[in-house]
Amino acid sequence: MSNTKYVFVTGGVSSSLGKGIVAASLAKLLQAQNLSVTIQKFDPYLNVDPGTLNPYEHGECYVTDDGAETDLDLGHYERFLNVPTSQANNVTTGRVYQSVIEKERRGAFLGKTVQVIPHITNEIKERMQVLGNTGDYDIVITEIGGTVGDIESLPYIETVRQLINELGDENCVVIHLTLIPYLAAAKELKTKPTQHSVKTLMESGIKADVLVCRTEYELTDDLKRKLALFCNVKQEAVIQSIDVDTIYEVPLKMLEEGLDSVVLKKLQLTAKQSHNLKDWKEFIDKLNYPLNEVKIGLVGKYVELQDSYKSILEALIHAGTRHQTKVDVVSIHSESLEEDNSQEILEGLNGVIVAPGFGSRGIEGKISAIQYVREQNIPFLGICLGMQMAVIEYARNVKGMSKANSTEMDPECKVAIIDLMESQKNITDKGGTMRLGAWDCVLASDSMLNQVYSTQEISERHRHRYEFNDSYREQLFDNDFKIAGWNPETKLVEIIENKNHAWFVGVQFHPEYKSTVSNPHPLFAAFVGAALKHSRT
Ligand code: GLN
Repeated sequence: MSNTKYVFVTGGVSSSLGKGIVAASLAKLLQAQNLSVTIQKFDPYLNVDPGTLNPYEHGECYVTDDGAETDLDLGHYERFLNVPTSQANNVTTGRVYQSVIEKERRGAFLGKTVQVIPHITNEIKERMQVLGNTGDYDIVITEIGGTVGDIESLPYIETVRQLINELGDENCVVIHLTLIPYLAAAKELKTKPTQHSVKTLMESGIKADVLVCRTEYELTDDLKRKLALFCNVKQEAVIQSIDVDTIYEVPLKMLEEGLDSVVLKKLQLTAKQSHNLKDWKEFIDKLNYPLNEVKIGLVGKYVELQDSYKSILEALIHAGTRHQTKVDVVSIHSESLEEDNSQEILEGLNGVIVAPGFGSRGIEGKISAIQYVREQNIPFLGICLGMQMAVIEYARNVKGMSKANSTEMDPECKVAIIDLMESQKNITDKGGTMRLGAWDCVLASDSMLNQVYSTQEISERHRHRYEFNDSYREQLFDNDFKIAGWNPETKLVEIIENKNHAWFVGVQFHPEYKSTVSNPHPLFAAFVGAALKHSRT
């Protein structure tokens, strides 16, 4: 048995209160005291993973090194902790049921009736302890998606109840995140919704140890006292989580409120050192006091929902701090660029990113945007689909291959310069069938990215089905438009650069998944650097 302690984070009153950020902030504070900690998320929906979900549903699908398609909160965990996560860090109800049903088909339950309790809860319980049982962590933080009282959440809440019972109260903490709404008419903050949600948790046999209260206004001592009394928690365990300008401030706010010390006290643990948050604070200073500003256009088809491009937006923030520069992101719907109006929309930008995506909607707008920035010498970064479109744009507008396209957009197209690999052509399943996770890439020694990365061998995360079709290699590439990186085994094209341009890069992978606060991604940093240079011309 390992000595790992468990923190469970539940949510009440409303969704979108930022459980992931609070979990990541607590983890950061514990890590800053030299405790080893990881975070896992349990999502109550029935999809086996979020890979098949439209970004409008739950925002971006995040991808780990081991190729898991996960909830975007794992991105926050990595960005805050600078430690990679894996498939084990994200479990959905779909995955739990899939595994229980597979076991049932194999006869693993020996003729028993298979039920939510104990079979589903046992499966959840096992998965909740996978990381803890490795012995690598002092503390495992488990975030339960959804809100208490939801039908879907019940098996998770029940499992937490059982686990606390088995592991012992001193080895577990339950943090309940709630909302304290402000009623303008009454000019008052209201505690009743929190009381009710704590009560709902109690009905499932779980006592909240800590309340993290999301609020727009400061909670007075009186109000904290009231919450403590009615919700049966210690007053020091009523933690205010006030709205802040950037999520990166939250760990410092939680430190002021003493969240980590309440948690350590309950777990009977002592810190291994005093908080080392020097780098974190420096990062925030740079973020809060920028010396310059650049305007970056983000061209995509899910721009209405900020969460769809979460990792890209965060990577730009990290990169901005490298130059002490505020990155002002202008979201541009790719469909709005389909009317020969690129100049009108893109003029004045210091850089343009064409975002990843699936399907043909807005594709011609992306191609027009790329033609404009290529011709106007505006720094360009094409990510995944953005790189594929950059290749098509060059083929069509420079090489005269007017029919060039991707078979994803036009299955019948005659000049399929972006195509499926032979091995993928008969796959009809959608989930998990892409090129996923970390793949090695070799950089051309004369490429710009070789300097940017300061190494020739890199590893980046992928999530796509289509590839550059190698039979067009000779026809397309020339002394300006070059292959700057490739997969060492398959020779698939991973990076293109346009040398006849200030800064023009397309990458088949997703660099945004690997950018963290302590390690801003070099590619984004170089891109923001190029945009800064552009802003001064
Ligand atoms: N739709 C493209 C593909 O499957 C690009 C995917 C992406 O941008 N993540 O290859």
